[in-house]
Parts: sequence; structure tokens; C-alpha cells
Amino acid sequence: MSKWVYSFGDGAAEGTRQMKELLGGKGANLAEMSSIGLPVPPGFTISTEMCAWYDRHQQSYPDALTGQIEAAMQKMEQSVGAIFGDSQNPLLVSVRSGARVSMPGMMDTVLNLGLNDLTVEGLARRSGDARFAWDSYRRFIQMYGDVVMGVAHHLFEEALENLKLDKGVDLDTELDEKDLRDLVEMYKEEVERTLGKPFPQDPQKQLWGAISAVFKSWKTDRARVYRRLNGIPEDWGTAVNVQAMVFGNMGESSATGVAFTRDPSTGERAYYGEFLINAQGEDVVAGIRTPQHLTIKAREAGKSNKPSMEEAMPKVFGQLVGIFETLEGHYRDMQDIEFTVQDNKLWMLQTRSGKRTAKAALKIAVDMASEGLISEDEAVMRVDPAALDQLLHPTLDPAASRDVLTIGLPASPGAASGHVAFTADEAEARAKEGEAVILVRVETSPEDIHGMHAARGILTARGGMTSHAAVVARGMGRPCVSGAGALRVDVKTGEMTVGGRTIRRGEMITIDGSTGEVMAGHVPTLKAELSGDFAQLMAWADRARTMAVRTNADTPHDTETARGFGAEGIGLCRTEHMFFDGDRIIAVRQMILAEDEAGRRRALETLLPHQRQDFAEIFHIMRGLPVTIRLLDPPLHEFLPREEKEFAEVAAVMQVNPEHLRRRALELTEANPMLGHRGCRLGIAYPEIYEMQARAIFEAALHVGEQSGETIIPEIMIPLVSTVAELAFLKERIDAVAEIVFEEKETRLTYLVGTMIELPRAAITANEIAGKADFFSFGTNDLTQTTFGISRDDAGGFMPLYIDYGILSRDPFVSIDQTGVGELVRMGAERGRSTKAEIKLGICGEHGGDPASIHFCHGVGLDYVSCSPYRVPIARLAAAQAALEAKAALEGGKA
Ligand code: PEP
Ligand code: MG
Repeated sequence: MSKWVYSFGDGAAEGTRQMKELLGGKGANLAEMSSIGLPVPPGFTISTEMCAWYDRHQQSYPDALTGQIEAAMQKMEQSVGAIFGDSQNPLLVSVRSGARVSMPGMMDTVLNLGLNDLTVEGLARRSGDARFAWDSYRRFIQMYGDVVMGVAHHLFEEALENLKLDKGVDLDTELDEKDLRDLVEMYKEEVERTLGKPFPQDPQKQLWGAISAVFKSWKTDRARVYRRLNGIPEDWGTAVNVQAMVFGNMGESSATGVAFTRDPSTGERAYYGEFLINAQGEDVVAGIRTPQHLTIKAREAGKSNKPSMEEAMPKVFGQLVGIFETLEGHYRDMQDIEFTVQDNKLWMLQTRSGKRTAKAALKIAVDMASEGLISEDEAVMRVDPAALDQLLHPTLDPAASRDVLTIGLPASPGAASGHVAFTADEAEARAKEGEAVILVRVETSPEDIHGMHAARGILTARGGMTSHAAVVARGMGRPCVSGAGALRVDVKTGEMTVGGRTIRRGEMITIDGSTGEVMAGHVPTLKAELSGDFAQLMAWADRARTMAVRTNADTPHDTETARGFGAEGIGLCRTEHMFFDGDRIIAVRQMILAEDEAGRRRALETLLPHQRQDFAEIFHIMRGLPVTIRLLDPPLHEFLPREEKEFAEVAAVMQVNPEHLRRRALELTEANPMLGHRGCRLGIAYPEIYEMQARAIFEAALHVGEQSGETIIPEIMIPLVSTVAELAFLKERIDAVAEIVFEEKETRLTYLVGTMIELPRAAITANEIAGKADFFSFGTNDLTQTTFGISRDDAGGFMPLYIDYGILSRDPFVSIDQTGVGELVRMGAERGRSTKAEIKLGICGEHGGDPASIHFCHGVGLDYVSCSPYRVPIARLAAAQAALEAKAALEGGKA
């Protein structure tokens, strides 16, 4: 018989932390904490396999499940000494979802399950606190009514607010037992009015209702959106955790809180978190009351006059700190913890690896390695390469003037400017139009995820450092200021007011998620700081990786940036981009539109000194590192004049009639330029173009080599080759130019001639092509285009639909299609090496900066990846992780 249910509690558990796939993250960690003797309220986890079963069987359950749940409930009853549904001594439980990875968008917690009109009286008698019992009951109806039965949350909130108004009180805690009894009646009526059926009184029914609600919540749109954005497979499913209740709302000696073992924003080694006295679970996260700090230090820094936990509950705080240390030592990572104190007794409700900013991830990884808690290689594995993006982006220029509107909480670091949008849909729509947007909300909820994703930054009026906005923004790497309490947001009128000023929809603001400042207008930014922890981790990564990392750079400026980020050479210098600059475009047009070779040669004469100068600058910056220069590969239409004025300009230089030029341009227009007269086809039709470029390269390399004393070995790359004959034809001419230049200069240098592998035929015949090539660089942009037969320029029209329908799991122009395009890369590499074992292999398509694709390239055995300058650090780290994983797999295989 299948086992669906796994118990934990009383220092033991049927699960372990390794069983995340089966028990979900929360369930596996509750089991683990239980086994290592931490105080965990007893409970059980229904496995993720049940979620899939439930879906496959029209939302029903196997017969065996009932018995397994009954047995697990009995175990809990024995452990707690109370009975589920008993009117004298009722056991209450919480029900929570828990997937393999933490996943907002699914069902939230239901607390106090098991309460009804009878058991509430039993709870009142047992606890000796009738107010507490009725408060728990009204919370239960509210939560269950909302998340399980689908009664709108605000209906309950309004009933509560009206009652507080009637009673003339501000806080929930000021309501007495009688008020809460009334509130329960109102809530029950609200449920009946909305749904036409009463609130379920049978605890068993309540339990099964909550379990089903968790499984159903796996399929909600919110959860799907989150999974899509985060690449979480649909078939993982969620587990359900049912756990005995402990109460943080049993008076002044009770509390509930969330904590991180280190600061998740900065990574600082300081306990970090918030707690609320006399409150239950979600109150802290929901931001209903402003929570208090954990430590004296944090309270002082936050200038709060409310006592910290360290002061209010020193003994329990001491225990909590002990548990922080135990957990960090055990998990060897920063932990995100939920706890409850019931009458001065501490209970652990959750631990998991804490979400953190890129900055914190870096600091924690480097610190933990220095503390000896993890190895340097492990530190390298701990930082998500894609998250480094956050660090590489600018911060506010301290010298710039700032018109500060207000200061909120520094919830997620980084600075961003953008036009204000007040709803997630608006943010998304405007971002699609290419606008920079700041999403401003009173507070965010999982429904806002798409808007948060589309926005450059997020600003909320309510919510603490652990609010939804803060946690999600940090995960996404978006700057966020939360809890800017002075802000009044009016979504209907489309404006916000702060300090007597009004900002309307579409106006520009700037937020600094590192300081909490909110500013009017645009504030200039500065480059990121790349020393310290960043440099340390990069040094460990560089030691671990085996692939080199080069950059795609066409200008001296990009080349400088990339060197600063640690590029070890240029993998692709697209020379056509150099042709767009200033007056050169006229000469280029002159060359393209020329009627004959003589006309082309005249135009090329003008271009030669510019090219030589560009190449010299790049060789100079790269100081002897390899530089691959690709000869001209323009889809011709990009260069043809379009406007009247442009034709006139070229005509004047060429001394011809503009009308004549227009006719010539028409002749050159292609039906399908991406597959037309580009790449080496152009070089073959007009060899003088490539000859000029080769001359510029050789002259520049000789010049810089002589001046600097460095050995410059230029790598000349031919684009869009599909047969070895094309390459042979062009290589012969390049070699001839080399000989002429060497003779003229009376000196020689070593150079390489290689090719892009970016057409399927090239990959398939790579064994032949390798005979004429010193190196291959896989041009996976064109290889993806031509393998799929999807135009690079037109994919945007339907790709989102393909991803939405799951036809493709990722955009193949972003992350390499390993089974199709990747197979051609593998084939090209193998066949190339079969002819020439020492042939140098790299990749220069966009995939060279994508972590998953970099892993793939490591597996294929490429020598280097090349990517845009800002992605160089990402590629260095991803290449290191690929190498370390491969090493671990090899060692695992040997063991
Ligand atoms: C490629 O096709 O992958 C490539 C790098 O060249 P381009 O993007 O310039 O066509
Ligand atoms: Mg290409």
C-alpha cells in the first residue's frame, strides 16, 4: 500500500530534510527539526504525490488516505493530550501548503482548524481565557471562509472595522469576549449570505476542506504565473502540512515572529526579524500591527520605542538565539524561521534557506567560507549567477541632488527611476511599451506578481521588511521600498499624496531600495562596486572553472567595461557595428551602392583608416588577450539609405543622381534579408571588403604589438559559412593580404582564421570545415534561427504564446534548446575535433551569457563562452558552477 502520510513531532519524524520532493520544503524541514530535537508542534505531512493523484482522479482521494490521516491524527492527539473535535478538550490544527521550493501564490495558512460552536467553549474552559478562544474562532472563520470557501477577505475586514467603530476602539486587542462572540455570529452570517450555506461545524469536514483547498491552490492562476516566471515544473505538486496549534495570542507571555539568522538584505551577521506579542501567525507578515524588533541593536537602529524581544522576553530570546546557531550549524546556510511563543514556551514552526538579496548572498557565502562553515567551492555554488545582475547595476549618485518625498523601509536594494503605475496590469502594459515603471501599491499581494516583474522598482505604503512586497522584490532582484507610511495612494484618481505633494500616474519618481528613500523625478546613478566580497567570490570561481570567459564587444567603451568585469578576451567583435558610426555610414552606403569594384574600392579606402584605428584601440585595451574579429556580416537592408536626405548625402559623395541610387537600392532589396546576401556570401561577391578589413586588422595588430611589446595574435572570423569551400575561398584571400602587409611592414605575426558555426550545414560538415579553420565559434543566434526556421526578428510575435502553452519551456533565443540546437553544437564540436583535435571552440551567441546554456557548453567541452560585458561575471560564476557540478558528479560516480 502506498504511503501518503508522514508524521513528525516529539523528537522524531518519518521524514528527513532530504525528502523535499515528497514532503515539500516545509514538511521536510519540520521533520528534520523534529529529529534533531528542536521544539516542533507535532503533526503530519501529506505527500506531493497525493497532489498529482488528486489531479489525475478528478479531485478525489484514494481510500487508504483516510486511514493514514486518522492514524496520524491519533498520534498527534496522544502527543498533545487533546482530541480533535472534542467539546471538552479540543485539539486544534493548522493546515499549510508546502511545495518543493517556497512558492507564493498557493493557499495560505488556515489556523485554529477544529473550532466550532461547541469546541470553542471547550477551548475557553481549558485555557481559562474565553476571550482568547473566541478570538481564535473568529480568526478561523475569517481564514477558512476566505482561503477555503472563497468569501472575499474584505467582507470580514469590514465587519471587524464596523464593530471597532461601534465600540470606539482602534485595535483588535481592545475587543472583549462579548464583542468577539458577536463578531463570530456576524462572520457566520456573512458566509451564509455569500455562499447560501452555513459555515461547516464538523471538524472532519473542515479538515478535508482545507486539505483539498491546498491541492486545488496548486492550479490557481497566481501559482501558475509564479511557476512560469521561476521555471518550476507543473508536475511537482504541493504537500499539505497539518500541525497541532500553538498559540501566540494567549496574552502578554505569548508572541509570534519571523527571523533570519543573518540580515537577508545586507548579509550582515546579525539576527534579524520581527515579532508581535499576543498575536497569531500571519499578523506579522500581513503588516496588521507594526511588529517589534528582535534585538536591542536593531531597535536602536530603527529608532523604535517599543521593546525588542531581547528586552521583552529575554529568556525565550536566549533560547531562540541558541536555535539559530543550531540551525545554521546543521543546515550550513542562513535560515528563515517562523516561531511562536505560547505562554513563555518557544515553538518552531518553520525553517528554510532564507531568500536574500544578491549582495547578501555574496556576503553570506564569503563569510561562511571564512568562518569554516562551508568550503570555498561551496561558497561558489551558493550564489545564483543570474542574481549577480543586481550587483552589477548602478546605485544612486551620492553627489546628485535629491528631492526626497518620504522615507520608507529599505526592503530590496538598488535604485530605480520610473513612471508611476498604481496597478499591476498598468505596470505590465506600460512596461511592454518600453517604459520604465515604478509600481506603487498600498501593499502587494500575489496577484501583483506580473506587475512587480514588469516594474523597475516597487514602492508600498504598508508592510514591513518581511511583507510580501519585500520578500518577492528581493527574490526578483527588483529595488523595493516598503512601508512608506506617509504615502496616501488613491488608485481610483490615479494619484498619490505625500507631505502635501501630489504625484500623478505617469510622473517620474526614483526609489532607493538600499536606504528607503523615495524621490521626485529622476536621480542619476553610479556604477556598481566590484571589489570586496564580489572580487573574493569571483577569484574562487575563476579557480574552479575550466572554460574561459570572453566578451562580445564592438567598441572601445564596451571592451573597457568587459575587462573591468574580468573578460579574458573578445569572442566576437561585430565589425558591421563599427560601420554605423558618424560619417562612416556614408562611405559604407557608397560601397554598397557602388556599381563596380573600382567604386567599392574608393569607398573602402575611406573606411580603412577608421577600421585600423578601431582595431588598434581594442587590441590596446585587451593587451595581448585573444581578440576575435568577425568580418562584415550585415543584412544589407540595415545599411541602405531610407530617407530622402540620406540618399542625397550619398549621391553627393558619389557624384551621381539620387534617383539612380534609389533604383540601385531597390535592386539590392531582398525578400528575406536574414537568409539573404549576408555573411561570407557578401565577402565572396565583393572580396575587396574582406581584404580591406583583413588589412586593417593586420596593420593594427602589428602597430600595437610594436608599440606595447605585447604579442598580438588576431583571430579573424568568417561568418555564415555553410560549406568548407566558402571558407577556403576567403581564407586564401586573407592569407594573401597577410603576406602583402607583412612584406610592406617587413615584419610578421601569428594570426588565426576561423569560422562561425551558425548554420546547420556547417555543424553537420564541421569535420570538413575544420580542415580549413583554426577555430570555431558557435553562433547560436543564427543556429537557433535556422534550426527552428524561426526568424530572429519575428519570434516575438508568437514566442510568448509558445511559452504560455508549454510548447517550449523557455525561449530558445534566450536559453539554448539543448535537445535540438544543442545537439548540433555537440555534433559540430565532435566532428570538428575529429579532424583537428586542437581546434579552439567557443560560443558567441546570446546563450554565452545564460547560466543554463553555459552549463551545457561545459558539458560539450567548449574552451570558452563569450557574452555581453555585463554578463561576464555571471558567465564566470556559471562556468565555475558547471565545472564544480561536473567534478562532484564524477566523484559521486567513482564512489
Ligand atoms: C550568432 O548568430 O549567434 C551571432 C553571434 O551572430 P549575430 O548575432 O551577429 O548574427
Ligand atoms: Mg550570426
